[in-house]
Amino acid sequence: MTKKELILRGIPVSPGFAIGKIFIYKRFIPSYREREISDNEIKTEVSRFKKAIHETEQELKVLQNEIRQEMGTDLAELISLQISLLNDQELIDGTIKFIETKKRNAEFAYSEVLKKYLIPLNDAKTPFFKERLADIIDVSTRVMRNISGEPLPSIHEIQPGSILVCHDLLPSEAALLDRERIAGVATEVGGKTSHTAIMTKGKEIPAVVGIEHLMKSVAQLASRIPASDVILDGSRGLLIIEPTEKRVSFYKKELESIQKQRSYLATLKESESSTLDGKYIDISANIEFVAETLTALEHGARGVGLFRTEYLYLAKRGPVSEDEQTLIYSDVADKMKPYPVIIRTFDFGGDKLIPGYFESNPFLGWRAIRLCFDNIELFLNQIKAILRAGTKGNVKLMLPMVSSIEELRKAKSIIEQAKNELKSKNIPFDPNLDVGIMVETPACALLAEQFAQECNFFSIGSNDLTQYTLAVDRDNDRVAKLYDHLHPAVLKLIKLTIDAAHKNGIWVGLCGEFASDPLGIILLVGLGIDELSMVPFAIPMAKKIIRSIDFTVVKEIAQQALNLATPKEINDFIQDSMKTKFPDLAKFFATMQKQNQT
Ligand code: PEP
Ligand code: MG
Repeated sequence: MTKKELILRGIPVSPGFAIGKIFIYKRFIPSYREREISDNEIKTEVSRFKKAIHETEQELKVLQNEIRQEMGTDLAELISLQISLLNDQELIDGTIKFIETKKRNAEFAYSEVLKKYLIPLNDAKTPFFKERLADIIDVSTRVMRNISGEPLPSIHEIQPGSILVCHDLLPSEAALLDRERIAGVATEVGGKTSHTAIMTKGKEIPAVVGIEHLMKSVAQLASRIPASDVILDGSRGLLIIEPTEKRVSFYKKELESIQKQRSYLATLKESESSTLDGKYIDISANIEFVAETLTALEHGARGVGLFRTEYLYLAKRGPVSEDEQTLIYSDVADKMKPYPVIIRTFDFGGDKLIPGYFESNPFLGWRAIRLCFDNIELFLNQIKAILRAGTKGNVKLMLPMVSSIEELRKAKSIIEQAKNELKSKNIPFDPNLDVGIMVETPACALLAEQFAQECNFFSIGSNDLTQYTLAVDRDNDRVAKLYDHLHPAVLKLIKLTIDAAHKNGIWVGLCGEFASDPLGIILLVGLGIDELSMVPFAIPMAKKIIRSIDFTVVKEIAQQALNLATPKEINDFIQDSMKTKFPDLAKFFATMQKQNQT
């Protein structure tokens, strides 16, 4: 029988790809019967239940320690939430009362009382509550397993190099994924901010979530799949089952060329990011979690140019206190020393979901600093935590989505208020913490001259600056072809910003995707950028480019590019200039592009 390749599509949440044997994961599913008990049995059932709660708490604490060591305090917080759900007094008392008054077995009593919690969450439409539901199911499954005395199931026994396929991963399972064993993950449910997405990205395991009918499809092919490899493409959002030989060889080649490139580029990671004629550009990393500081350093980052703190809330599914934030920010600062760490205040809204809140035009709505001004406690707590972490000596604070000078002034007065509150409580903080802004609205870029006089640095948020300048939603596939960083209108605003910063004696970086685009790097260095911040794995390539160009030459290229009328003209002009001015670099790119098209 000839094999027929099956391509399943889902949401790409963690880039990269893997070829390996499929491992279909099914977890313990609680099964129990309702059993009437006698008066004599009440005590035994209550103590079985209490013992299960105790054992579950012990398991969760061990797990939390493992996560803390492997991935940092922020992700370990996820388990704190589960411990508090486990110890919910109403749930515990309710179950005991149910056993005593209704005279039923512990499993049945617990699951009946639990329903009260699950039903409203199950009907909830917002991802936040759906995730909360996953946490409750996670904890209660553990409790049920411990009541029934089943051993702890393990996904540690998976053969190295496997592709894990399952309906969904519970938060504690996702947190324990071992990248030495699991080469890729595919799940039937989940979205961009699901715990599976967050954890796999943090661990750099390629992953695709939200693949409709995944389990049915693999079940239908169950007898044949184990024999052949599957392909998981976390960049394009594909799981390819029974791939054709042609497809496998395409991916194998791509894998080989990426690995070759990576090992070559890895040799550059510690090298100085200076142009041939000696202009130094700071190269730093964008991170979302403490664990990513390690990846950042491994790839040769010289600082964190953007710490997207919203994910702390999304990982914990709720408020993170000032003290917790202080610990997390201090941890990042310690790990990155002596390099700087720029902590961006919360950028909720837009593409970063606000738990339980929807609006029809989120990118133009209640987002980032606007939302923080309306939630002053949230904002103050975060600012105080950043100020406190500032005692480490390498921390800076950055405000997102600023569009008027009044907003900057208001934020600065709140920072002063935070300082006064800390001072009155004798809590140490950095009184001279640098405060910068993200330049990501056209209004801000056009007023860069004024802004530069009132803050310590700029970081251009080119992802948003492009969408707001071109009026193109950055997440809408239908208009994706209109979204182009090389649009001359965007470049003009970038130039305006860089010139205004330098004229007023402050430094300016760029932390959008444009910072890791090869043509972007050439243009930005030419325009005089001081710092580029990007996803860690792009750093060696950025260094390669910077080390292959002359500042004086790219300055000229950038100036000429700014006189062109369309993104295509600019793109062609830079490509042609590279061929004549930096032929070796042009050849390097040509081989890379060819490899990627094979
Ligand atoms: C940007 O807008 O370019 C940016 C870096 O911020 P974010 O992608 O988090 O909106
Ligand atoms: Mg932005």
